[in-house]
Amino acid sequence: MRDAPPDDEPMAEPPEDRLTPGLYIVAGPIGNLEDLSPRAARILRAADVVACEDTRVTAKLLRAAGSGRPMLPYHEHSGPDVEARLLDRAARESVALVSDAGTPLISDPGYSLVRAARARGIAVTTAPGPSAAITALSISGLPSDRFLFAGFLPAKAVAREKAISAVAGIPATLIFYETGPRLAASLAALAAALGGREAAVARELTKRHEELVAGPLPELAARYAGQEPKGEIVLLVGPPAGEVVAADALDEALRTALRTMPPGKAAASVAAALGLPRGDVYARAMALKSA
Ligand code: SAM
Repeated sequence: MRDAPPDDEPMAEPPEDRLTPGLYIVAGPIGNLEDLSPRAARILRAADVVACEDTRVTAKLLRAAGSGRPMLPYHEHSGPDVEARLLDRAARESVALVSDAGTPLISDPGYSLVRAARARGIAVTTAPGPSAAITALSISGLPSDRFLFAGFLPAKAVAREKAISAVAGIPATLIFYETGPRLAASLAALAAALGGREAAVARELTKRHEELVAGPLPELAARYAGQEPKGEIVLLVGPPAGEVVAADALDEALRTALRTMPPGKAAASVAAALGLPRGDVYARAMALKSA
């Protein structure tokens, strides 16, 4: 039903008050209600039901869209029964899925619903819109040709270090979601593992106190040490300096070195040979060792 037309004409959609049955993934604003698209608003006015995380938050969105459609809670703790009921409805009615902010499924519920809907042959379509990760990347000044969205870093130190090691050698800008109380610890861990890589802290995007602070990781770690900035935060880290060295070539060199040397020495020798920052190479060596 929903494949895009072959040219750039808009999808043929039924009039305002009718939607064909299916699951509609509807992106909402990340803080600024004006970012709700007219098409998203129309779908929210026409859907038979709007599945959402928090009905109080979505009630505001529906008011802004001029929608009085009923809501059904669907969140990370919803069991398989809730999902099955939503799928049954989506098979014969229009079900819109929104999250508290931005695009559903992006560090938000919806993945298993979309997967199950597709498996059942239920039509799945989208009204795309803002997502904090892309919004932050677009103003960060960090390379945007290749990026990896890695969600939230773990709260506990050991798990966080492991998660950082796993992405340290990836030649792409890294994007994390973050919270004020955890920002300082995450920046300190990233600086320890990744050295002086360029980074940015994007806060309160699209809102009155929007702010972007950029600088090398150690500088940002020092600036935010002991602080708990208010509001919502995206943390971005630029790619390793030796981005031109293929990830495969780095791994190959490290594996060879690790056969005869401990990780610290292997990292130092490979970093010198390939002209890469030692911290990055060490993090990758540790990731390969624990893989
Ligand atoms: N689905 C959302 C999206 O598409 O961006 C993300 C939901 S996730 C549960 C919430 C996290 O997104 C926040 O903790 C923060 O890291 C980030 N975020 C959401 N809105 C933001 C904003 N206005 N400015 C900065 N970060 C934001």
